[in-house]
Amino acid sequence: MIRLHNTKTRRKETFRPLDPGHVRMYLCGPTVYDRAHLGNARPVVVFDVLYRLLRHVYGTGHVTYVRNFTDVDDKINATALARKEAGAPGTLEELIRARTEETIGWYHADMDALGAARPDHEPRATDYIGAMITMIADLITRGHAYAKDGHVLFRVRSYAGYGALSGRSVDDMIAGARVEVAPFKEDPMDFVLWKPSDADLPGWDSPWGRGRPGWHIECSAMSYELLGASFDIHAGGIDLQFPHHENEIAQSCCAHPEGGFANFWLHNEMLQVEGKKMSKSLGNFFTVRDLLDQGIPGEVIRFVFLQTHYGKPMDWTAEKAAQAEATLRKWRALTAGVAPAHEVAPGVLEALADDLNTAGAIAVLHGLTGEPALLKGSAQMLGLLIDEMGDWAKAPEVDLSHLAAKLADLRATAMETKDFAPVDALKSALMAAGVEVRMSKAGVELLPGPGFDAAKLEGLA
Ligand SMILES: [Zn+2]
Repeated sequence: MIRLHNTKTRRKETFRPLDPGHVRMYLCGPTVYDRAHLGNARPVVVFDVLYRLLRHVYGTGHVTYVRNFTDVDDKINATALARKEAGAPGTLEELIRARTEETIGWYHADMDALGAARPDHEPRATDYIGAMITMIADLITRGHAYAKDGHVLFRVRSYAGYGALSGRSVDDMIAGARVEVAPFKEDPMDFVLWKPSDADLPGWDSPWGRGRPGWHIECSAMSYELLGASFDIHAGGIDLQFPHHENEIAQSCCAHPEGGFANFWLHNEMLQVEGKKMSKSLGNFFTVRDLLDQGIPGEVIRFVFLQTHYGKPMDWTAEKAAQAEATLRKWRALTAGVAPAHEVAPGVLEALADDLNTAGAIAVLHGLTGEPALLKGSAQMLGLLIDEMGDWAKAPEVDLSHLAAKLADLRATAMETKDFAPVDALKSALMAAGVEVRMSKAGVELLPGPGFDAAKLEGLA
């Protein structure tokens, strides 16, 4: 029995799928204009564990997971336009496509490195423009939206449930939000479903002229097309709760009153770095790729994420990463060559079924080091100790015997001359290259250790 904290009711509730033979979940995906920063990866990793748990409980073929790509957005247009002005060949549409293709490729590579399974569907907004136009037209017909000056706006006050997800009244939200007052709006709270595009912007023909969709409508249209008017779980970062998720609910429930949209809402809290909000001005803003390029394995990043419950703010620290690396190295050494057990330790399943308590599940794993097969099988439930992700922990196969012989010779000479400086110099150089140096009366032993870098050995032999 899985229990999940439902933002909609602010309670932990027993999860019962609308159709036990087909569990459906949707996660708001990235806007593909740049590399994903570390905070963007948190929902991907924590809800990947939920996806693994649901597949374990309901069967692999009985879960549909959708995560979208927002590939129409003013930031994408701006980067494409800048390239065009810099002299890049091709039409603006081609440059936009090239930019989004490139960014989607990066995103896949980075999320794969974190061990996140690919969702069953990864719809792109630009492939669903027709479905969005249909939905917008339907909202106008039903009196929930209106067209003015090439724009279509959602009439927020036509939907009594607006604000229920975040527990705020419309008037509170107006007071607290940066609502844009515009001449084409009946009410400042009304939000854009469709907006006009001039010649410098991508656009599609619509009943309201050439234009492009607002951001919120895409998730409503794509979830309807792929999951239906009612589905089980909608997840995303807490920063999306208002206005994005409130707007999704309003659009979907008004266009499809026969459905209930998402039954459960799950929100992950935000990520900090060394106790501070990640921001470009503080200089602590980095992407997943930055960390991978620094040599921090994706599995280590994943482990650090999962040590904090998704509903709590999480703090990324270098110390946590170092501890995670040491733990994973130990577990990988213990389970090397071991086939994973088919069963998962009951304690791990119990922790995950309790609102995705990944920290609790990891605590159980620490107690399984005496049972390597069970440790491996159970860790894989969290997407850890997967064979394909373990190359980083393998000792590199290098022949250090000639350097060991050289060090032994230097030591023998030093015994005569009493000048140990050459021995110490070579020893320091080896250690700087990540080599573990063991010297005893029996001889010299050299082993590649953590952070081993063969390039630094050049010129030492
Ligand atoms: Zn969304």
